[in-house]
Amino acid sequence: MKIFFCPECGGYTLWPSEVCDECLAKLPADSWVEITEEELQQLEYIDEFEPGENIPTWEYEVLKLKSDSLESSREYNKTLLNGMGEKGWELVRITSMGDSKSDNFGVFKRSWSDKVED
Ligand SMILES: [Zn+2]
Repeated sequence: MKIFFCPECGGYTLWPSEVCDECLAKLPADSWVEITEEELQQLEYIDEFEPGENIPTWEYEVLKLKSDSLESSREYNKTLLNGMGEKGWELVRITSMGDSKSDNFGVFKRSWSDKVED
């Protein structure tokens, strides 16, 4: 099945739909991903958690890094990582995903309270 991700609120909406279930923003036509029933169940499982008082909540972002050895790629990655750092994002790991072993992705996190402040 397909789901749309909402760039406005970070929520997701089951296909077919043109607007976000959560915030009613118009969904970009290319902002979807094919998922399995099991993957959908995981998303729904997370939705059911209610964060308690005084429990920090985290926001995550995944960005693609340049993976070749060119000096210009190194500069690109440095600019990207420093830019994220200035916005309060901490790089927590670099990983490849799926078949494309040559592509590296940076996984970043920041606490939700940081997001509210800016
Ligand atoms: Zn939304």
